[in-house]
Amino acid sequence: MAEFTMELNDEQREVRDWLHGFAADVIRPAAAEWDEREETPWPVIQEAAKVGIYSLDFYAQQYFDSTGLGIPMAMEELFWGDAGIALSIVGTGLAAVGVLANGTEEQIGTWIPQMYGDPGDVKVAAFCSSEPDAGSDVSSMRTRAVYDQAKDEWVLNGTKTWATNGGIANVHVVVAVVDADLGSKGHASFIVPPNTPGLSQGQKFKKHGIRASHTAEVVLEDVRVPGSCLLGGKEKLDERLARARERVRAGGGERVKNAAMATFEASRPAVGAMAVGTARAAYEVALDYARTREQFGRPIIDNQGVAFQLADMRTSIDAARLLVWRASWMAVNGRPFTAAEGSMSKLFASETAKKVTGQAIQILGGNGYTREYPVERMHRDAAIYTIFEGTSEIQRLVIARTLSGMPIR
Ligand SMILES: Cc1cc2nc3c(=O)[nH]c(=O)nc-3n(C[C@H](O)[C@H](O)[C@H](O)COP(=O)(O)OP(=O)(O)OC[C@H]3O[C@@H](n4cnc5c(N)ncnc54)[C@H](O)[C@@H]3O)c2cc1C
Repeated sequence: MAEFTMELNDEQREVRDWLHGFAADVIRPAAAEWDEREETPWPVIQEAAKVGIYSLDFYAQQYFDSTGLGIPMAMEELFWGDAGIALSIVGTGLAAVGVLANGTEEQIGTWIPQMYGDPGDVKVAAFCSSEPDAGSDVSSMRTRAVYDQAKDEWVLNGTKTWATNGGIANVHVVVAVVDADLGSKGHASFIVPPNTPGLSQGQKFKKHGIRASHTAEVVLEDVRVPGSCLLGGKEKLDERLARARERVRAGGGERVKNAAMATFEASRPAVGAMAVGTARAAYEVALDYARTREQFGRPIIDNQGVAFQLADMRTSIDAARLLVWRASWMAVNGRPFTAAEGSMSKLFASETAKKVTGQAIQILGGNGYTREYPVERMHRDAAIYTIFEGTSEIQRLVIARTLSGMPIR
């Protein structure tokens, strides 16, 4: 197990500088345009694929880095560039993590490469868990997967919503109910391969922020997938369901993680790192502006009212990064989140991003409120971090339940 460290090693520093260069030279200059267009920035994804940033290899290298700092460092730099474009680049990763967390080696080897495509023909993937009536409350999920034993196929029916890359993805990972009596413990994840009949895109959402990232409904009508598309395989599912039924019969007992939750637990510190990237970007713009903008014959940073805000902003950003790095190190090294450290990191970092980007607008005054300066966009973008992958209220619920051992509602 790697010791927890707050220092990037030489190799990590090199990767960070390379990512920062891409974020500064390719992502940031394109940010305003794709925010206005509200479309997936395919040319930027392609550029990222060409240099190796949009690839399975790159994320696997970061994901398996035993210091735990690979993924947060990468997320922070890319999201520093721009949140909407960066989400278009890393959104496929949520689906990939869904397969890594629940799939067999064969499924990982078959499907993850198809999620990314190749630099000459890039593809994206979508992870579809949320539904119109099942957001925070995943146990209300209605999408059903029924096994057709004669054909060894699963038949999926339902409507997913808020899916990043939903409908434009080459591969969709869909969470569905296989045993309605077991609530969220009766869920399983399925691969829906490219061009499977019955899967279509519903409404594409027009959003407040991260507008370069495609978010849409995914409609599943009698979607038939081979038995091999059940992540983890039938035998493992049957065993898991039998254990869950046994626990229900015994009146509860040890809690069982469901498939979607396993994905979210692994990805929460990564979302925290995205939020740190956006917060740091806005803080840097504000610091620069406060040093150069003069009022009353001196730079506005000469006023404690402005300088103290910047001091608070930087303090919160550094604290958020520390929580994210700790959680990420714990996750990679198999340390259990006994105090819900993953949720803590996501909660604090996302609330920090929302607050810091708002403070940045204030420091830029009228300019901060316009689209001539990037902090307005960063503030709109930051609002997503307290919503997706579990809202701030749900993170607090997870933390409070973990600390107290009580079923707090
Ligand atoms: C841009 C975007 C991208 C997304 N990408 C994906 C994706 O790729 N895949 C995917 O599956 N999902 C995705 N989501 C869905 C996202 O995870 C959900 O929006 C989120 O989980 C919240 O669900 P909801 O929107 O239904 O809100 P609701 O669950 O309806 O919550 C509404 C409000 O009630 C509060 N609330 C609910 N229950 C409680 C409680 N018990 N205690 C206190 N407060 C509570 C919430 O905190 C929130 O403030 C995305 C969402 C957005 C906006």
